Amino acid sequence: MRKILVAGNWKMNGDSAANSELIGGIISGLSGIADSAAKPDVLVCPPFPYLAAVREQIAGSDVQLGAQNVSEHPSGAHTGETSPAMLQEMGCTYALVGHSERRALYGETSEQVAAKFAAALAAGITPVLCVGETLQQREAGNTEAVINEQLAAVLDNSGIGAIASAVIAYEPVWAIGTGMTATPDQAQDVHRFIRVVLEAQDADVAAGVQILYGGSVKGDNAAGLFGMPDIDGGLIGGASLKAADFLAIVEAAATL
Ligand code: PEP
Repeated sequence: MRKILVAGNWKMNGDSAANSELIGGIISGLSGIADSAAKPDVLVCPPFPYLAAVREQIAGSDVQLGAQNVSEHPSGAHTGETSPAMLQEMGCTYALVGHSERRALYGETSEQVAAKFAAALAAGITPVLCVGETLQQREAGNTEAVINEQLAAVLDNSGIGAIASAVIAYEPVWAIGTGMTATPDQAQDVHRFIRVVLEAQDADVAAGVQILYGGSVKGDNAAGLFGMPDIDGGLIGGASLKAADFLAIVEAAATL
C-alpha cells in the first residue's frame, strides 16, 4: 500500500524568524497527531539559505528535508547553482525537479529536468518530478500529450526502474497558486493516466510510485483529493506557509 506524503514547497518566502516559527509549529503540531498507519509522511522544501537551520530544527522529528531545485551538474563553473552532493550534505533527502515555475520562468526544458532527475538520484536524493499542463493546453485537449512528453523525457533518460526511487507530482499549472483546484475526478483522471503510462513499461513500478497532486490544496479539499485511488498526497505551496494550514492538510490525510 502506498503511503501518503504531504510536501510543503515554501518557494521564495520567509526569513530566519518566520521560517523557524513555521517549522517549529509544524513539528509541534505533528507530535499531537497520533501515530497510525494513516499518518502521512511529511516533507518541507525551504529556500536554500534556510536548509541548514531547518535541518537543525527537524532533527529528531519525522519531518524530512527537501530542496526546491537541483543542478544537473556535479560541480564547477555554474554560478548560482547547487549540486546534488551539496544538497545531500545539507541533509536533503528529496529535491523538486521540473516545478512549473522553473519550467515557465527559468526556461527549464524537459530534457534538462530529466538530467536533474538523474543527477539527484545518483546522489541518493529522491527526485519529486513535477508535471502538469497549462490551462491553454487543457482546453486544447492536450493534457495527456503534455504529461506524456514530460514523463517520456525522464523515462528515456533514466529508464522505468528509476521511477521506483522517485515521486511524481501532478500539478496542473492553472491550479497553482490560483485557488482553482482540480476536482478530485479531474486529478484522478490524470493520475490514472500517469500510472497507465508507467504500467506499459513496468506494472510493479507503476503500482508502487507515489503520485502527489499539487494545485491549491487546502485543509478543506485535501481529503477529497487524497481519497482518490491514484492520489498519494500533495505538493502544497500557499497552504504550506502557515503551520495551522499545513497541519490541517496533514490531519485530513491522517483520517483516510
Ligand atoms: C506549488 O507551487 O507546487 C503549489 C501547488 O502551489 P499552491 O498550493 O499554492 O497552488
